[in-house]
Amino acid sequence: MSNTVRTVISPGRYVQGKGAIHTIGEYLAQLGSTPLFVADDLVWGLVGHDIEASLKSASLPFQREQFRGIPSAKEVERLVTAIKDAKADIVVAAGGGSTIDAVKAAGHLAGIRWANVPTVASTDAPCSALSVIYTEDGEFEEYRFFPRNPDLVLVDSQVVANAPVSLLVAGVGDALATWLEARATARSGSKTMAGGLPTVTGTALAELSWQVLWDNALPAIDAVRDHQVTPAVEKVIEANTLLSGLGFESGGLAAAHAIHNGLTAVGATHGLAHGQKVNIGSVTQLVLEGAPTSDIREFIEFTTRVGLPNTLTEVGLRADDLDSLRIVAAAATVPGETIHSMPFDVASDDVVSALASIERFAVQVRADAGLPAPVPYVAGH
Ligand SMILES: [Zn+2]
Repeated sequence: MSNTVRTVISPGRYVQGKGAIHTIGEYLAQLGSTPLFVADDLVWGLVGHDIEASLKSASLPFQREQFRGIPSAKEVERLVTAIKDAKADIVVAAGGGSTIDAVKAAGHLAGIRWANVPTVASTDAPCSALSVIYTEDGEFEEYRFFPRNPDLVLVDSQVVANAPVSLLVAGVGDALATWLEARATARSGSKTMAGGLPTVTGTALAELSWQVLWDNALPAIDAVRDHQVTPAVEKVIEANTLLSGLGFESGGLAAAHAIHNGLTAVGATHGLAHGQKVNIGSVTQLVLEGAPTSDIREFIEFTTRVGLPNTLTEVGLRADDLDSLRIVAAAATVPGETIHSMPFDVASDDVVSALASIERFAVQVRADAGLPAPVPYVAGH
């Protein structure tokens, strides 16, 4: 694509609300005649019954394939075979970001349409036309880009509110990065994940997602602790899923997600949610930018209240473990990584210094604000 073209992309339809799951059959009937659902057993136990009933009332046949945990190249291949065996003309992911990423990649390879029914609001994966593929061990491997976004994204707010609150918290971490990264991309005039320069639309949606979260995340998280759907919960689900999805894809990714990808290269961080690692990326990006100290301070205070990690301790790392920080920084700065969309050059050493610096600063900010000290993370616990 030419260097001056601006573009914005989006799913064909976005549906959100309490009880929306009961309408899945209606919407799928507009898209195909032979859907194949992909979900793990846990998710299927929660929503399988309602989905089957909705398909039945829309006179659609019902088939389900199990999802096996990691969106790896091998799992994607297995799902392509399952799609062909099922003679499906639309594949539907029900679950979290991993299921969704695997299904998008499989639907694309199989040459059929795809739709997503996120059962948690933990990532901005559902609306985009790309998948993140991991190794079998959970390390970032590659982004895969597709010519189309999902035809349908349907979110039942009550299903999201029934899930553990930690997943909504992780989604807030993923979505807060959206504006920081879109702002950096707009400043540098870099290409976005949509393949062109950012539109004012994409950048504005990223900023709106940030405002919605600062205004609503704390009450929404409290409501979801009790599995309640309130207007604040609806707004946060939309910010995490739709606004952040459109905002990151058409507004652009920068340092925060590259640092997330770098963190996956270190075993100590495995088991943490995507949005938790992204939040470390956001704090680190603010440091790299030389953002005003008051901005970094506010971000650390807010994300502590939300329940997100903003110290190395909380992601299994230490400021004096330079070997690990160098591995993270090297992976975050490989050619082609989105960190090169920052409005200045970022070298691996800069990332090591920024990462190491957040520990003391965040610990102090939290102490000054009377917020809890960081609790060490131990992988696999
Ligand atoms: Zn993300």
